[in-house]
Amino acid sequence: EDVPVLFSGYSPENYDSTYSGLVSAQEALQRSLNVPAVNLLAALGGEALYELLKKAGFTTLTPVNHYGLPMVLGGCEVNLLELTNLYAALAGGGKKYPVQTRLDRGNSPPLTVFSPGVAYIITEILTEVRRPDLPTCWEFTTLPKVAWKTGTSYGHKDAWSIGYNPRYTVGVWVGNFSGEGRAGLSGAEMAAPLLFAIFAQLNSDTTVSWFTPPVTVKKRAVCAVSGQTPGPFCTPLRSDYYLTDCSPEVECTFHQTYLLDPATGYRLPPHYYSAARVTAEQVYLQYPPRVAAWLEANGQPVETLPPLLPEWQKLLPGGAPVVRSPSADYIYQIRRGIPLEYQKICLEAAAGNDVRQLYWFIDGEFYGQTKPGERLFYLPEPGRHRVICQDDRGRSAEVKLEIID
Ligand SMILES: [Zn+2]
Repeated sequence: EDVPVLFSGYSPENYDSTYSGLVSAQEALQRSLNVPAVNLLAALGGEALYELLKKAGFTTLTPVNHYGLPMVLGGCEVNLLELTNLYAALAGGGKKYPVQTRLDRGNSPPLTVFSPGVAYIITEILTEVRRPDLPTCWEFTTLPKVAWKTGTSYGHKDAWSIGYNPRYTVGVWVGNFSGEGRAGLSGAEMAAPLLFAIFAQLNSDTTVSWFTPPVTVKKRAVCAVSGQTPGPFCTPLRSDYYLTDCSPEVECTFHQTYLLDPATGYRLPPHYYSAARVTAEQVYLQYPPRVAAWLEANGQPVETLPPLLPEWQKLLPGGAPVVRSPSADYIYQIRRGIPLEYQKICLEAAAGNDVRQLYWFIDGEFYGQTKPGERLFYLPEPGRHRVICQDDRGRSAEVKLEIID
């Protein structure tokens, strides 16, 4: 999901401050999208990535509690040699060897950092050449075949590009040794041209064949919208890599059929049966709530489910709204000297496509109403507050809001 999100007061943004809605892992990696990466780390837990980086031999990391979710965007210090050696592990099918400066010392045994299937799929993604971080000066030339990635650090302090083929791994860093940033310094424009120039010189040997897929990597048809295993109503389909030993086999949760009452237009509960009522089935495309709210806010058509048959509305368990702001475990501090008018706290929630209206209650009193994804503002009052967001089906979510002066 590449849509606005808030984690304990931290709201990740993409490089160009735009969002793209639903994206594939391939697109997220090729376009270096920050938001999907932060979402993934939030789902995995930060410790998992930290342990992987430790295992991969990064010696510059400070204790894990120094890092939050920005760690996945490069919010931790690394050096070029150790980073380049991790890319060499991708080239080595997931096996990482210690760095050696002399050939006559013999190789220490390798460490498995990624499975061969993971290494292969990442390599395939990084080998795609025509993409946004292709340096403009190489746009119309024939490029050597390389799996490559670029990066630009916060404040334009470092521009880097790392690439590999089955034989060589090359890392390029451009920046000031003083660490001073410079406007316009970017991995794509400064470091990648050097990387390609180096590979153009190295690549004279064409006898080495490109990487081949390990037995755990196969292709399968997936739903083009959800990327999940297609169900009977998914169209169009596309072909995608998967790992036979660990890719999930979840049938598409986006394309679902719903029972309708053609006479009234109401939706009927699943498995509804009544001898007195004729029913009809219809397929609806249901995006995850946050994505649906973002698409709608950006003027893109989103299918809305017809309302549920009135006598069932209060009875069916369904997805409660997801409060995006205020953040549940964040303490808001009122800043001195700034009018409260400018420190209002945003109330915003996402809800399922069957929800048209959300009602907000603060400390038990009705405060206002919004549509899903719409914003309402609250003038902060010091103290602890209960914020309840209720949808028009009676489902509600609660967050505790603490404001200190
Ligand atoms: Zn589908």
